[in-house]
Amino acid sequence: GAVIGILGGGQLGRMLSVAASRLGFKTCIYEPGGDCPASHVANFHFQKSYDDEAALRQFGESVDVITYEFENIPTSALDILEALAPIHPSRRALEVSQDRLVEKTFLRDLGLEVAPFANVESRDDMDAAVAKIGAPAILKTRRFGYDGKGQARLKSADDATAAWEAMEGAPAVLEGFVEFSCEISVIGARAQDGQVACFDPGENVHREGILHTTTVPANVPARLRTDAVLVAGRVLNALDYVGVLGVELFVTPAGLIVNEIAPRVHNSGHWTQNGCVIDQFEQHIRAVAGWPLGDGSRHSNAVMENLIGADMERVAALAAEVGAGLHLYGKAEAKPGRKMGHVNRISPKG
Ligand code: ATP
Ligand code: MG
Ligand code: MG
Repeated sequence: GAVIGILGGGQLGRMLSVAASRLGFKTCIYEPGGDCPASHVANFHFQKSYDDEAALRQFGESVDVITYEFENIPTSALDILEALAPIHPSRRALEVSQDRLVEKTFLRDLGLEVAPFANVESRDDMDAAVAKIGAPAILKTRRFGYDGKGQARLKSADDATAAWEAMEGAPAVLEGFVEFSCEISVIGARAQDGQVACFDPGENVHREGILHTTTVPANVPARLRTDAVLVAGRVLNALDYVGVLGVELFVTPAGLIVNEIAPRVHNSGHWTQNGCVIDQFEQHIRAVAGWPLGDGSRHSNAVMENLIGADMERVAALAAEVGAGLHLYGKAEAKPGRKMGHVNRISPKG
């Protein structure tokens, strides 16, 4: 059968591999780390650095299509790989989502609402940005941020110096603080023939910057759920996208504001594993493999809870719980802040 190459060996790569095997594909992981979650379930593992040109070439030659589970893939690696196998989602999708300034500009130019933002690459930029955006505000590194890392909050303009210093010189964007009533996300998919399907929006609650729960259906008016799906469709089509995309949105009295997009399967889409016939991982594999999308309609209500660090002490109880789908990533050490697994609690569709 065909071999699907996956860049990145974390839990997302692991669950993509499982979904791919269920459809009869083989998977090949490229991940410098050794004992990684995806390597336990994939058929092949290139435990090689992204600087290793020979290994990248060998990987590209041994797979039929390449996808990824994280957006910070070095450009030099993509230059080598794109000559050897198709990469889905495209490099354009990666470029847009790797850098918050490019991302926010792209979304705004699509006519979507985003928080007011300004580029900050120097102390002078910082002062100009605070003058333009005001406070409260959030300064975020343009690249490599996740789980709320690389962010500094400004309660007032007096916090500008501390926030700028927290970036340690990295280019950043200052964003106006959005007074949202809740956060929702849409997991959308687009096939190679342009067919689009979106999962029902979920409502997200964060703890200490990390996603804690996703609840479906989101407790927002039906018209906003429709708007959210339309936003995702707009982004998918604008990027001529192939695969699954996560779109995070803030709900405000004035409507939806797009926070960020992720060109991959998304933590807030894990509920689909137990809430739908076809989950986000299979949907992604179908799209990148050139298959039609599957039926992602929701058959149940669901609450996904992330299991982080010491939450693993509750695994025995969770394993005995009725209506709870348990998903563990096989990580050796349960460090604070580390995502170890998740549980999907399912109830009849309401
Ligand atoms: P992720 O792990 O989702 O990739 P991240 O590190 O990329 O997170 P963001 O999603 O940008 O960071 O921000 C993390 C959280 O901080 C958001 O989910 C939201 O709760 C809050 N937040 C971010 N930007 C704003 C804003 N402009 N106004 C209000 N709250 C915000
Ligand atoms: Mg992010
Ligand atoms: Mg986010």
